[in-house]
Amino acid sequence: MPDHHASSRTTSEAATSTHAARRVSVLLPLPLAGAYDYLAPAELALRPGDFVIVPLGRRELVGVVWGDAIGDVAAEKLKSIAEKLPAPALTEELRRLVDWVASYTLSPPGAVLRMVMRVPDALLPARAIMGYAISPRGRQALAAQDTSLTPTRRRALQALAEGPAAPAADIARRAGCSAGVVRALAERGLIEAVELRSRPPPALPDWQRSGPPLSSAQELAAGDLIDKVRQGGFGVTLLDGVTGSGKTEVYFAAIAAALERRRQVLVLLPEIALSTQWLARFAERFGAPPAEWHSDLGHAERRATWREVAQGNIRVVVGARSALFLPFPDLGLIIVDEEHDSSFKQEDGVVYHARDMAVVRASLAKLPIVLVSATPSVETTVNVEQHRYDRVHLPARHGSARLPEIRVIDMRRERPERQRFLSPPLVKALAETLENREQAMLFLNRRGYAPLTLCRACGFRLQCPNCTAWLVEHRFHGKLQCHHCGHSEPLPPLCPNCGEAGSFAACGPGVERLAEEVTMRFPAARLAVMASDTLIGPRSAAELVKSVEEHAIDVLIGTQVMAKGHHFPLLTLVGVVDADLGLTGGDLRAAERTFQLLHQVSGRAGRAERPGIVFLQTFMPEHSVIRALISDDRDHFLAMEAEARRAHGMPPFGRLAALILSGPDDESADLAARAYARAAPHMPGVEVLGPAPAPLAVLRGRHRRRFLVKTKRNVNIQAVLREWLARVKVPSSVRVQVDIDPYSFL
Ligand code: ADP
Ligand code: ZN
Repeated sequence: MPDHHASSRTTSEAATSTHAARRVSVLLPLPLAGAYDYLAPAELALRPGDFVIVPLGRRELVGVVWGDAIGDVAAEKLKSIAEKLPAPALTEELRRLVDWVASYTLSPPGAVLRMVMRVPDALLPARAIMGYAISPRGRQALAAQDTSLTPTRRRALQALAEGPAAPAADIARRAGCSAGVVRALAERGLIEAVELRSRPPPALPDWQRSGPPLSSAQELAAGDLIDKVRQGGFGVTLLDGVTGSGKTEVYFAAIAAALERRRQVLVLLPEIALSTQWLARFAERFGAPPAEWHSDLGHAERRATWREVAQGNIRVVVGARSALFLPFPDLGLIIVDEEHDSSFKQEDGVVYHARDMAVVRASLAKLPIVLVSATPSVETTVNVEQHRYDRVHLPARHGSARLPEIRVIDMRRERPERQRFLSPPLVKALAETLENREQAMLFLNRRGYAPLTLCRACGFRLQCPNCTAWLVEHRFHGKLQCHHCGHSEPLPPLCPNCGEAGSFAACGPGVERLAEEVTMRFPAARLAVMASDTLIGPRSAAELVKSVEEHAIDVLIGTQVMAKGHHFPLLTLVGVVDADLGLTGGDLRAAERTFQLLHQVSGRAGRAERPGIVFLQTFMPEHSVIRALISDDRDHFLAMEAEARRAHGMPPFGRLAALILSGPDDESADLAARAYARAAPHMPGVEVLGPAPAPLAVLRGRHRRRFLVKTKRNVNIQAVLREWLARVKVPSSVRVQVDIDPYSFL
């Protein structure tokens, strides 16, 4: 985990004397430099963590009492806190996390607080929702077959007699009548207005239900985690096990132990919206679904979940990275599944790594955290080696399932036909799989039809007007799209450069083009494409997963959204169409990430009785990643990666941060870059690389320059950056972004 450089300046619970108006600091969920001082009227009896309404300029805003006053503004000049909100106070642990994350990422604390207060109206008591119930008079009328009741009114009454009280619109819908009919019933006293409970209370997962009997290796691993949950206290454990070894089953046992102790549990999962199988498994194991937290939730659900979490009524939350900032009052365990996944890194706004900050939260709250992976990150592996983290291990797949055999197809020898992308051996394997009535998965980490479209007449390439990026053709949507800014346009009829008509040619494959090839070769095969833009929302992902489970799909073609977690017993063949994709580009983690992704995709094959086989199409069969995959020598590969990082002083052996400047044009970007270069720190143990145009030199119309700061591990890189940033003044049109522990180098 990242070291605790940051001091926690605030949040002293002391000093709650009840003098007339005390002075306190209040943090607002805005990107301001820090908290502001206010007067706290004695009658409000405020304590740190209380949510309050304060005036700011002409506005009134909700903020949090952060601690003692910071400044020395005369009391007469301070404004008063207007009101205290009836919501559970923010715990000290969460306030310290906000300060910690702000300090570590060099973000304004208010910007981090905003992530905690994502649903501001959750702080207000729920508005009462009114509805109608049938009245005694109404029951009588119904029973007496009152002839003055029209058929529609009778239907509406009947609906209420049979079902629960409901809002007028629901009654009308249920009875197939107009709202006027409901009104008329109310006027005649046949139904009466009642206050509805807005939502049923969240169902409690039942820890007493037993899971499947565990194998002895699973039992050992589970026992270790359960002990840690029972003892409490901070500790990080890597749950390391091959795909299909039962890691989920094992950490479910740890969750049960936390629930038994009436504690709350947070599970972080990448791509939670696609994890329908995980949700179903949880519900089956514990008899109730977990609460979900991700960007596809509606506002009402978010609001209710936030509040129920704060009140301790929700016991288990599974979510994407932002769930880390939910206001659990009584967290007892954090699980980070697929801990190596780079989607835990948030790249805009507050730039943070949810796995690392989850470790920080666990340490602040003094509770155990479990990192789960079949392919742990180099960072985590090194932490295990250096005994900062514990490790429990599941060495084999559960039951009779064996790990799949992995074979390389050397594309220099096994060339596909022109404009085709599947080599003869892979086509043959596909044919056999379909003949055996088994399922296949083709993996290609490229959305759309083709990554590049060019003019056959003049070579002109279609480029995004806002970014240094090619436009990607999406035939399903009939559009060219930029994957960086979302720009989209129809394919132009004429080449904008030479004016030739119909001259555009697609270069290279995306998943849509692969689907075309499979259809052409196997017209009878039922296939589906799984990519983030072909799945709209969790429902369609769930439907797709279900149709694969029901064997209504023979060939699944997809990007990395397909690689995660799924368990399809009939899936025996995995074809990786371009194993080299991602190996080039040469960023710090290119090899590691490719290894993890391909290992994970391979792990989809042969998860039940039928053995699986994986084909890797590659032009670089001797590459260390490909060799590690075939020989299944993960530990050697990780050791080599770690050694390379150590040799170059790269994380986790040194520290790294990126400084990204962007301006409205090249000139302003260069000017700012020169100003920062002149002020760059010169000190032992600190190296500044750049400025250089970013690989994505223009993004969303902004011209970008990058610096990379590399320091020894014992250097406080945040302090170095803070000082550097303070020395330079640039025009307000220039944006400066800091990325500590960068994962993207674009
Ligand atoms: P992992 O998370 O390591 O990939 P899972 O927990 O998903 O592995 O387990 C893989 C498959 O094996 C799942 O279908 C799971 O239900 C099954 N499984 C694992 N452990 C057991 C067990 N002890 N008893 C029965 N089934 C198990
Ligand atoms: Zn773009």
